[in-house]
Amino acid sequence: MLATAPSATIPANAPQAATLPPAFEPRLLAGQLLSAGPESWEQHRSRLGELPGASARRAIIATIERSGLIGRGGGGFPVGRKWRSVAERSRRGAVVVANGAEGEPRSAKDRALMHLRPHLVIDGGLVAAQAIGAEELVVYVGTEHQEAVRSMRRAIAERARRELVAIRLVEAPRGYVSGESTAVVHYLNARDARPTFARERPFERGVGSRPTLVQNVESLAHAALIARFGDAWYRQAGRCRTRGTALVTVSGPVLAPGVREIEYGLTLAELLAMSGGATAEIGAVLIGGYFGGWASVEDLWELPLDPIELAEAQLGFGCGLIGLLDAEACGVRATARIVGYMAAESARQCGPCIFGLGAMATALERLATCRPVPGDLENLARWSLQISGRGACHHPDGAAALLTSGLRVFRDEFDRHQRGSCAHPTGPVGG
Ligand code: SF4
Repeated sequence: MLATAPSATIPANAPQAATLPPAFEPRLLAGQLLSAGPESWEQHRSRLGELPGASARRAIIATIERSGLIGRGGGGFPVGRKWRSVAERSRRGAVVVANGAEGEPRSAKDRALMHLRPHLVIDGGLVAAQAIGAEELVVYVGTEHQEAVRSMRRAIAERARRELVAIRLVEAPRGYVSGESTAVVHYLNARDARPTFARERPFERGVGSRPTLVQNVESLAHAALIARFGDAWYRQAGRCRTRGTALVTVSGPVLAPGVREIEYGLTLAELLAMSGGATAEIGAVLIGGYFGGWASVEDLWELPLDPIELAEAQLGFGCGLIGLLDAEACGVRATARIVGYMAAESARQCGPCIFGLGAMATALERLATCRPVPGDLENLARWSLQISGRGACHHPDGAAALLTSGLRVFRDEFDRHQRGSCAHPTGPVGG
């Protein structure tokens, strides 16, 4: 099906309709139809076979490094390098945490993966455990994702007595920062899911003071496939510089929103076509999630969805969220909504996070409701620069970056709100 191109908001040289991308074989979501529900242990094994033996798995770090696999939790850190850091400190007794907290409100890819392909996540955790010398695998799943919790629990029960590594499931408390790596370790040690200020990072001293690898569940699932099929196979997918495939969540006015697996390098135009086309004119795109930023459709339309290419355009792939904003929605209100959420989700431990995000959210709320005070816009621009890097974790940095992108993409709308009026007072609420 052709996409309904957002014609009034795309550049003159952009295609007016995007065609579907060439056929592509999914990897993480291969196998039975997704509508058939979770894949059982028997189905998983008959489709993919056994994992390689333990000795081969010990050599996996070099294979993962050659594959170029990057983390899918948002940071994009090289997975092989992370595993090597933990392995160098591990004298057995290390811990692997499969991080499926997925606190990002509009992302659904981790919960979908855990629900539908739970054994791939466990395989990845076991490969990581062998690679770094861990004796325990903790599957950390956001408590609000109950379908994923049930599916992972069932899968762990199917595997429990077959594996040498102890596997347990822990439900992560709700909260945007619950999946931050020091918060994960803090919760597993002390039932407190707030980031910590410890000098030593989890890979040095983590769960039970042991070296701990906290790795996003999608990253682990890719590692499970690389362990079976090799780094050369992994690198066959991808159209630009970042190799492989990725799960993305498409939300907003499209015919078929939801989670999809794409090759890195697909364009937004093609992704819209894959999603059945837009059902309304698109005004802007939230890319990478609440830790990402706003982009105009003009800037993003034909840009490869590839972390390296996006970074060069001052954008981030983040957690793979592609949030489409209806052109009739107010960008100021959408930005205020997100920053307000981020301020409310602060773990309330650091001054810049409590007071800085609070002040930003309050000024944005005044602007969004067309009741600004003089200087609100100038203050927001200044605070967004001052707050970055001032918290114990990156939470305020994400909110500041999102605000900066909003001030750029919705420049005219912000100016208008500072004058006390809105061009879309009755439009849909986005963000
Ligand atoms: S920066 Fe914010 S979220 Fe991060 S530790 Fe400090 S108060 Fe908590």
